[in-house]
Amino acid sequence: MTANQAHYLRNVMRARPGDAVSAFNGRDGEWEARIEALSKGVGTLSPDRQTRKQTSEPGPWLLFAPIKRGPLDFMVQKAVELGASALWPVMTERTNAGRVNMERLAANTIEAAEQCERLTLPDLRAPEKYSTVLDNWPQDRQLLVCVERGAVPAMGSVLQHQAGIAAWAILTGPEGGFSPSELDQLTRLPFVSPVSLGPRILRAETAALAALVCWQCALGDWNRPLPPRTQ
Ligand code: SAH
Repeated sequence: MTANQAHYLRNVMRARPGDAVSAFNGRDGEWEARIEALSKGVGTLSPDRQTRKQTSEPGPWLLFAPIKRGPLDFMVQKAVELGASALWPVMTERTNAGRVNMERLAANTIEAAEQCERLTLPDLRAPEKYSTVLDNWPQDRQLLVCVERGAVPAMGSVLQHQAGIAAWAILTGPEGGFSPSELDQLTRLPFVSPVSLGPRILRAETAALAALVCWQCALGDWNRPLPPRTQ
């Protein structure tokens, strides 16, 4: 375990060697494990039995123009809870947030995955320029671009009857929105669907999370019966 996890177990959870915990590493499912050793900044676990098999995360990628630190932390944590399978900062013309702290982003994803009992971490991509992302786009993945103004079809209606498409991604813009030339570039791309999230202008983080919810309801694991879950 990491030094942070050892600190958390020891000082926040007040756990001691011999105590049982649930553990996952993103590859081998979930295990009931026992704390073997735990001291300042170091700890080891010994796995007893598997409690859940590894599952993949079928949710969409979330691409987002970076925003300020507080809302970004919030957005990343909630996007993990809502099942985003990748997180990818995209630098747009009007992006005014500074450098993205990828270590902080990674720490947020781990904490959120632990908290929501998800067995995989989203794939973290290094920040990339808008045009580079679009130029190198995997053509078999449909990209839903959230656009707040103009004659854009509602996301809910775009996602109806789309069960045939397996791979999806969502892109949201910065506080200032996409520039006219960025929006113009989209219209020529066959893998892009511009979508609206209703008549209200949402904060960037609200838009990203609302879009994930809408996708989960229409095509994701909020739209099918869940396997029984043990306590
Ligand atoms: N300053 C801009 C708003 C940007 S909102 C303006 O006044 O027009 C930030 C981002 O959230 C947008 O780029 C878009 O991706 C998303 N967004 C906000 N509200 C939305 C809506 N109603 N529908 C679709 N996307 C929305």
